[in-house]
Amino acid sequence: MQILMMIAALGMALIAVTGLLLYLNRRRGAKVVAHAAAEAGMPSPPPDRGADLYVIHASQNGMAERLAWQTAAALRCKGKTVEVLALGALDGASLAGMRRVLFVVSTFGEGEAPDPAQPFVRRAMSASVDLSGLEYALLALGDRVYPQFCAFGRRLDAWLQAQGARSLAARIEVNNGEAKALAHWDRLVHSLGGQGEVSAESQAPTRWRLVERVELNTGSLGLPCFHLAFEAVDAAPGSWQAGDTVSIAIPVTPAPRAPTAASEPLWRSYSIASVPEEGRLCLLVRQVRREDGQLGQGSGWLTRDLPMQGEIALHLREHADFHVTDGPQPLILIGNGTGLAALRAHLMQRKRLGRHENWLVFGERQRARDFHYRSQIEAWAVSGHLARLSLAFSRDGDGPRYVQDSLRAQSEVLCQWVDRGAWVLVSGSAKGMATEVDTALREVLGAARYDALLAQGRYRRDVY
Ligand SMILES: Cc1cc2nc3c(=O)[nH]c(=O)nc-3n(C[C@H](O)[C@H](O)[C@H](O)COP(=O)(O)OP(=O)(O)OC[C@H]3O[C@@H](n4cnc5c(N)ncnc54)[C@H](O)[C@@H]3O)c2cc1C
Repeated sequence: MQILMMIAALGMALIAVTGLLLYLNRRRGAKVVAHAAAEAGMPSPPPDRGADLYVIHASQNGMAERLAWQTAAALRCKGKTVEVLALGALDGASLAGMRRVLFVVSTFGEGEAPDPAQPFVRRAMSASVDLSGLEYALLALGDRVYPQFCAFGRRLDAWLQAQGARSLAARIEVNNGEAKALAHWDRLVHSLGGQGEVSAESQAPTRWRLVERVELNTGSLGLPCFHLAFEAVDAAPGSWQAGDTVSIAIPVTPAPRAPTAASEPLWRSYSIASVPEEGRLCLLVRQVRREDGQLGQGSGWLTRDLPMQGEIALHLREHADFHVTDGPQPLILIGNGTGLAALRAHLMQRKRLGRHENWLVFGERQRARDFHYRSQIEAWAVSGHLARLSLAFSRDGDGPRYVQDSLRAQSEVLCQWVDRGAWVLVSGSAKGMATEVDTALREVLGAARYDALLAQGRYRRDVY
């Protein structure tokens, strides 16, 4: 009897694990196919069955997609079928075939749609389509640091209205994952029969202690940039991969005569500049100076006010769209300023894996002041871990001024690397650098190569 019970228990466990693996596999597969179809400009695949409800996401750094899957998980009860789809894989006609949709969309850069949603913007949002049979709700994610707060969410909402779609509730806008605003969405999901919680964080933040802070660009023409290293205070701080980011709780200093009630912290995102094997979580943070001359709240606190050995609370944020596979494909890493953070983490991860076909294209102001992590990068170039190193210092007056100039000057090599299957990572400022690099890539690679790069998910960006 006991043996029978053990066999039954093992069977149940096996079914549960197989189910989970199938779910993860399906999710991964669906994502790749959708991305490829969307970017190749193919008509969107019609949803495979008439789901009761669709949750559609447009995500730049993974947050909108994570919330979409949570929303779907909460709503998948009482036999309801809920399908999760990427907006970029759809067109107007496929939306017209749906009855009820929950959109979770973020805004990126200068009020733009996230990269993976661009095909939908190009294909669908410039045309008219009859969506009078569609009911929807929309969660817009944004960051008030940027002037065009939630602009893409607002634009999509207006477009849906103009096509005759009927909104189930007023658009919900969330600043930087703010819990209070997300609670509105959670309530909406419950009003639609959902169970379980939809929240930005499924776990409590982990605690880290500042053990190193070094200014890297003393005397620079630009604002000071700091290398920060933290060690985990918690026994099990969790892990991350190259490309991931952290969301740090920044204490809010009350104004002199403001009520003293404890205020919610601000949350600020930073790209991780190290790999877990280094034993430290490193960041590369540039001070931001506001119009009133004060330092930015997050960058000021991290680079000046937080004492050495002081503790911070943070969430590790997976940024799957900025990961690369462990395979032997060459890697082209392009970035400026603090964009070097995520690129450094990738180079460290590739070193651990013994993958040395790496080409770093880095830009800053002056070689003498702003060549962050210079000794490490030069050592990698000498040892062969960097197969190519291209530097562009805009204020030095020799060589290419910007990373996009460097790419243009090496157009033949760039095409050869891409033809050999290279992945292209771009990290750093959205304004200027990322757009200019995108233009240079289109120009140098030509439409066919550029489209293939996108369709195969080999062009990835972490820009802010
Ligand atoms: C995914 C992601 C990764 C990031 N990685 C890094 C990183 O590795 N290193 C790093 O230094 N920063 C990074 N940032 C930017 C960082 O999150 C903060 O925006 C930055 O430190 C300024 O915050 P603050 O609180 O100091 O300034 P605040 O007090 O919030 O703002 C001060 C003023 O500066 C302006 N401002 C602030 N940030 C920006 C911006 N990015 N673009 C345009 N205007 C801005 C605003 O107009 C604001 O009025 C990243 C952002 C994102 C979204």
